[in-house]
Amino acid sequence: MSSLPTIIQDVFNEPGCPRNASKSKVERKNGCTKQLKPGGAAGGCAFDGAKIALQPFTDVAHLVHGPIACEGNSWDNRGSASSGSDLWRRSFTTDMSETDVVFGGEKRLYRAVKEITEKYDPQAIFVYQTCVPAMIGDDIDMVCKAASAKFGKPVIPINSPGFVGSKNLGNKLAGEALLEHVIGTGEPDYTTPYDINIIGEYNLSGELWQVKPLLDELGIRIVSCISGDGKYREVACSHRAKAAMMVCSRAMINVARKMRQRYGIPFFEGSFYGIEDSGDSLRQIARMLIERGAPAELMERTQALIAREETKAWTAIERFKPRFAGKRVVLITGGVKSWSMVAALQEAGLEIVGTSVKKSTEKDKERIKELMGQHAHMIEDMSPHEIYKMLKDAKADIMLSGGKSQFVALKAATPWLDINQERCHAYMGYVGIVKLMEEIEKALYNPIWDQLRQAAPWDEFDWKRQAKTVAQMHAQAVDPVRGANTNGVKTISFSNKTEIGDGESAVAAHGPNPVEAAKPCTESTARSLACKDICSDLQPPALQAAE
Ligand code: SF4
Repeated sequence: MSSLPTIIQDVFNEPGCPRNASKSKVERKNGCTKQLKPGGAAGGCAFDGAKIALQPFTDVAHLVHGPIACEGNSWDNRGSASSGSDLWRRSFTTDMSETDVVFGGEKRLYRAVKEITEKYDPQAIFVYQTCVPAMIGDDIDMVCKAASAKFGKPVIPINSPGFVGSKNLGNKLAGEALLEHVIGTGEPDYTTPYDINIIGEYNLSGELWQVKPLLDELGIRIVSCISGDGKYREVACSHRAKAAMMVCSRAMINVARKMRQRYGIPFFEGSFYGIEDSGDSLRQIARMLIERGAPAELMERTQALIAREETKAWTAIERFKPRFAGKRVVLITGGVKSWSMVAALQEAGLEIVGTSVKKSTEKDKERIKELMGQHAHMIEDMSPHEIYKMLKDAKADIMLSGGKSQFVALKAATPWLDINQERCHAYMGYVGIVKLMEEIEKALYNPIWDQLRQAAPWDEFDWKRQAKTVAQMHAQAVDPVRGANTNGVKTISFSNKTEIGDGESAVAAHGPNPVEAAKPCTESTARSLACKDICSDLQPPALQAAE
């Protein structure tokens, strides 16, 4: 078993990543983490990345070894969907305390594995290492091995404590754990020439299920999806697949490459976002399976299915084109979505004014250039302030991004749509692209945006008060005597009768203390007599205009 520093260096040396390959030996040792700029958001830690990558395995208990805050709320932190067990959503943590920090947390971890086994009897337990136990030297590999032998169940150590690096490194370390402890440890009941793996797909909002019926229709079997709606036994048998589609290369390139190296499974990078990309991916799967022994007629059936689904999808999105004419989109996402979403949006006639490439590979960038031209506006690293300015200057009509930047759009009173993992809608495949258009239309034409762009009531008040002062100054300038004596006020209201005159005449008519008489109607005090019930038709013209 390799040590954690050795595994990390191996991940940093990933030959499947063109960006890594272009770096010098020294640069490669430092990994891909960039120094944060003030005001920028940090993103998750390596533990977070590992948990995100593996949590969608649904029949596995995910046990976090560390203080309770590392785990947080696991129930709804990820939009993945399960077709069966909900075990994956439950929070299991060893909840380490000060005593464990002093005396070590290994026994506590062992007891936690025992308790989970007795209460839930899961297919497997994934044990995630976090900063505190890693720093005090808890050996989770040893505990997992002992627990596995004792309880007769796979107990898999996921060695990715937060301090070792970024969320993306954590994704890859999670992949390394699968390669070392899970993949190749089982055998499927049967195999077919149509068996594939899908790698780096998380079944967010159940979007894989929008594509699976198409694969089922073609007779193509998903042996294992890593990890959306994944099952432990499926991933254990995934080395028997004939081909693989890699959906997010940034997260799981090491898994796809090493499976090709170890088991001879070819892979390609594809996307099911958008009409064109869905067709391309289906064709590519068919092509690879035929190369690995599937009958050639698979391609004919695939082409027929693509033609049928494309016709349906184009017809469905046609109605959005007039609604989207001239509308501009800024896309703040990463990885495969930075280009696959571009294609999907362009298909509906939206103009892309910029797409972020912070988390994209060189290959992703090349694809963006193919779609948007050589001068495509690729946003390398935009601070929230710059995004806000871009939206405030009305350079985009809508922003599509993850939840992290939603408040920037809301502050700029610009429509926003969540396209990252917390989203509530599934956008994959031919059905998904139509759903995406529906949601963009709803966001763009939601009446709330007009209301938000109006001045706030307190801004309105200041503006009126300013106009009132100007009007009074104007009245005094025009008629200094009247202005000085009456301050522009001609009407005083007492109870239910209205009299013309100024303050002095009111005193003459109602005695030296007219306040009591005035109160029922005006609620005036001695200082503000005659101020409340000024008839609007007698106010200075400028003031009326202002109000
Ligand atoms: S950085 Fe460390 S302490 Fe913080 S959440 Fe990640 S694993 Fe836990």
